[in-house]
Amino acid sequence: MKIQTIAIIITFLIGLIRLGNAQSTADSTRQGTAKTVEKKYQARAPKTQPFGAEAFGPSRQTTVRWLGFAGFLVNSRGTTFMIDPVLEGFDMPVLIDFPIAPKAVPRLDAVLVTHADNDHFSVPTNQDLKRATKAYHSTIYVDSLMQNLGLPAFGHTIGDSFKFGRVKVTLTPADHAYQNAYPGMSKRHFKNEDACGFWLETPDGTIWAPGDSRLTPGHLSMPTPDAIFFDFSDSEWHFTFEGAVKIANAYPNSPLLLCHWGSVDAPDFSPFNGDPARLAKAIVNPGRIKVLAPGEPFILKPIKKGK
Ligand SMILES: [Zn+2]
Repeated sequence: MKIQTIAIIITFLIGLIRLGNAQSTADSTRQGTAKTVEKKYQARAPKTQPFGAEAFGPSRQTTVRWLGFAGFLVNSRGTTFMIDPVLEGFDMPVLIDFPIAPKAVPRLDAVLVTHADNDHFSVPTNQDLKRATKAYHSTIYVDSLMQNLGLPAFGHTIGDSFKFGRVKVTLTPADHAYQNAYPGMSKRHFKNEDACGFWLETPDGTIWAPGDSRLTPGHLSMPTPDAIFFDFSDSEWHFTFEGAVKIANAYPNSPLLLCHWGSVDAPDFSPFNGDPARLAKAIVNPGRIKVLAPGEPFILKPIKKGK
């Protein structure tokens, strides 16, 4: 059930292939007999900009901060929530400093979780956020996991909407039931509705957080969002790189707040090794790509939309 299981298998297989190729590669690029295995390039996030309680206070605008991984903090005129926060306890080597510790978070109106994988649903993070968080929201399945942890959780069906403070949230469809393709990974049969995205309506514009998903026609026919929490992982269980480009170009003026990249030390594992420079060469209006540092504020504003 864990994404790490796939990562370990793939890394192992690639390692075997590399072992077979190492001789010719090293001999063609190096002089002498000393051979070192050079690590494959992986794009890394800018240096973290830590923040504290001030990020959760009253505000006259809507501020978004990437948390690393696929996580974001949003403060919309004082209504505060996180999506998919992973701020501690991940079980693979991490490349970033987390911008805040869960125990330093003073208050959250909500935590939203897109699906059960531990790069999105971090049990230690959520347990340590519990004392500061009014409510957790996710799919029906993830709600059942949250209930088992004693979190104040609510489960929703795809298309369901709910409100807290100044923010309205609607669950959008996802296609990420990859577990069924790997016999032995889980005894449970996963359904598409176990995972979701979120459509967020704030007083300062809309945000679309599609979550992890394969590309579906619905991803290309959303209303134009004022910002997208943008996963561009070149993974067959995500949009793929080409699919991410299609999404970017379907909303050619929407700012793309990059996520799901630069956070985990996994140069051979496509869900974690996206490269913003490659994306910039492939999409319309690359200037709207926001390569945020973990913790760096982004101010949400409505964009101009065609008819
Ligand atoms: Zn993920």
